[in-house]
Amino acid sequence: MAKILIIGAGGVATVAAHKLAQNADVFTEIMIASRTKKKCDSIADDLKKRYGVIAQTAQVDADNVPELVALLKSFQPKLVMNLALPYQDLHIMDACLEVGCNYLDTANYEPLDEAKYQYSWQWAYQDRFKEAGLTAILGCGFDPGVTSVFTAYAAKHHFDEIHELDIVDCNAGNHHKAFATNFNPEINIREITQKGRYFLNGKWIETEPLEIHKPLTYPEIGQRESYLMYHEELESLVKNFPTLKRARFWMTFGQEYLTHLRVIQNIGMARIDEIDYNGQKIVPIQFLKAVLPAPETLGENYTGWTSIGCRIKGVKDGKEKTYYIYNNCSHEAAYKETGTQGISYTTGVPAMTGAYMFVTGQWGGAGVFNVEEFNPDPFLAKLAESGLPWHEIINGDLEF
Ligand code: NDP
Repeated sequence: MAKILIIGAGGVATVAAHKLAQNADVFTEIMIASRTKKKCDSIADDLKKRYGVIAQTAQVDADNVPELVALLKSFQPKLVMNLALPYQDLHIMDACLEVGCNYLDTANYEPLDEAKYQYSWQWAYQDRFKEAGLTAILGCGFDPGVTSVFTAYAAKHHFDEIHELDIVDCNAGNHHKAFATNFNPEINIREITQKGRYFLNGKWIETEPLEIHKPLTYPEIGQRESYLMYHEELESLVKNFPTLKRARFWMTFGQEYLTHLRVIQNIGMARIDEIDYNGQKIVPIQFLKAVLPAPETLGENYTGWTSIGCRIKGVKDGKEKTYYIYNNCSHEAAYKETGTQGISYTTGVPAMTGAYMFVTGQWGGAGVFNVEEFNPDPFLAKLAESGLPWHEIINGDLEF
């Protein structure tokens, strides 16, 4: 029914490829292309072994638009799933426009030389995608992604107006390494060391990095210290749900992780500018990435759960109401199924689900869309069926 091209061959791409192969009746041809072809080959070998599905592979530098265009012209996919890094978003969107191909990603564009997360760069493609009659689906991982769809689902089915939103992201898993990040270390450290930001009564309030924190209780996990951070879906959610008076994002971190992070920053290893080392230019955070464990290798000894969801307060039929919608995901179960840990799993499954919505005609339209703009119902049904079931608590105490 549809040809799909995955770009990237890391943890998230691995899970998405497994999930595409599990839906081979819809995704009839799969290609995995990335900078390092042997990583694509190894995913393809696994797909053949586990599901008997043959995926093609290719080498591509996704920062090189002519190279991408040549690949797209020869494979002619219906949809490109950009599961490489946020730096490649605009190059891949440019190539899609040139060839006439639809686009999906899981993280908003970020310039290499500045850790700055905002949708403006990708929203600026709105007219070009519209005129070309193509669809670009932005931020279709878990957060952004499922959290955005959870919010849309709450607004559609549970509230007349939503007023307060807390997105809560807990990783209560243990990978048994002294320090490792669960997705690309460079992107992860850039994100966490940024200033915090939340939305209050029409304004953005800035905080020092991880300055605001408090213990929050997560279902079947218990209390975990949770830190207020800026996260990209807040920007599109306050735009698409203008009744929101407050929107915040919280993530849990262990003390050991924070101590390592502080040391990494203090000794300059989180720097994103070039330095001279023995006559060679290196970027410290990129060097650090090269010595840290790769996210896709963490799965084997990972135990415990993630719990990510949305806690929402608003009004229904003139009465105040609270609503909590969340998914808990087991790292062990994710590893057993796909050979990767829970964070890659919770990102790769929604990416496939978004692709499924698009190729089956349940999501679409010409232009650039954040996922909360689509119908949440078929997405959440498919998500639950694909390994990420979700749960609701109505009128519970949400620790706002
Ligand atoms: P990884 O670092 O594991 O994988 C990234 C992959 O992209 C690697 O295979 C890498 O190639 C490839 N790549 C990097 N640069 C290029 C390039 N120029 N051309 C071609 N390929 C390239 O990252 P993850 O799998 O953990 O994350 C993938 C994406 O998912 C990231 O954008 C991340 O921000 C996002 N994400 C989103 C989440 C969400 O909930 N929305 C949560 C977690 C991640 P090589 O192997 O050669 O390095």
